[in-house]
Amino acid sequence: MKALVKAKSEPGLWLQDVPEPQCGINDVLIRVDRTGICGTDLHIYKWDAWAQKTIPVPMVVGHEFVGEIVQVGENVSDFFPGEIVSGEGHVVCGRCRNCLAGRRHLCAHTVGVGVNRPGAFAEYLSLPMTNVWHHRPGIDLDVASIFDPLGNAVHTALSFDVLGEDVLITGAGPIGLMAAAVVRHAGARYVVITDVNEHRLELAKKMGVDVALNVTNGSLAEVQKQLQMAEGFDVGLEMSGNPAAFRSMIDNMAHGGKIAMLGIPSEDIAIDWNKVVFNMLTIKGIYGREMYETWYKMSVMLQSGLDISPVITHRFGADEFEKGFAAMKSGESGKVILDWKV
Ligand code: NAD
Ligand code: ZN
Repeated sequence: MKALVKAKSEPGLWLQDVPEPQCGINDVLIRVDRTGICGTDLHIYKWDAWAQKTIPVPMVVGHEFVGEIVQVGENVSDFFPGEIVSGEGHVVCGRCRNCLAGRRHLCAHTVGVGVNRPGAFAEYLSLPMTNVWHHRPGIDLDVASIFDPLGNAVHTALSFDVLGEDVLITGAGPIGLMAAAVVRHAGARYVVITDVNEHRLELAKKMGVDVALNVTNGSLAEVQKQLQMAEGFDVGLEMSGNPAAFRSMIDNMAHGGKIAMLGIPSEDIAIDWNKVVFNMLTIKGIYGREMYETWYKMSVMLQSGLDISPVITHRFGADEFEKGFAAMKSGESGKVILDWKV
């Protein structure tokens, strides 16, 4: 089968012929239809320091996908050939304290699809049945292919109660953009998003934000005045990994404000801890998706009118993957989809 492989310890990815994955007794074999390119895939493509220490070579990469079941293992009873599915990209152990307690997103033995085990940028993908998610028939396949990052957005956005609250999102990358639509759908009063990239701030307006602020030529203090907000933001969603963005979030939270932090900082961030202490802020780190409450929420919010489709800006055939990665690198993109059925 065709697959996108990290074949050499140097920048780049290679479209190669590799053996089809085996379908074990507890596995589901999926014919991949479409995939989304994640920032993680771009790190692997660029072969940065994180990728060099994390990815064994060769490795089939990718973890955001939708596809059709073609085979199931003999222990599998509730999945059938022909069904449209996506999959959770974190394979957990099932045996540790957190897994046994149903807190599988907290498993300390998590293995990443397309990171530590063969991934979804391929014609076929084999996953344990415990990682497979049914889609309802008729779901938009582009949207279905990005359930994994939508799950990051939903997990973060619904970490704290947003109904009637004022929400600040720092970073209008694909995940920040989707989070904006989610908190709007979940009943936030004001949704303010920041970035330094005009292209992405334009996209944010299609996701229903009240203010899309370019922090290079405006401040959150002015936005608060403009919206006549009394005491700062109730909920903050940090989705940039940028130190200045995180500091400005802390500066603009209401007393008792709650911050969910998804963005991965590339360096240590110094903050004014007095503001955390005296303003009694809560800061919660977010990793991955809750298995499978986040997946449930994604499915039902899409059924009840959540629209994240404007975040999808580019589509290419899998053989044009270089164009897809170039679009990602340009920053002038939301989600980039690769089609594996061309
Ligand atoms: P992205 O890199 O596409 O988006 C980040 C955005 O932040 C960019 O648009 C960038 O221009 C913007 N930004 C830079 N400086 C800023 C500033 N000073 N103020 C406001 N915005 C600024 O990333 P993404 O794919 O949307 O993911 C969002 C973040 O979440 C990334 O840091 C990513 O590594 C992280 N992530 C975490 C998890 C997890 O499980 N914790 C999973 C996926 C992604
Ligand atoms: Zn575990």
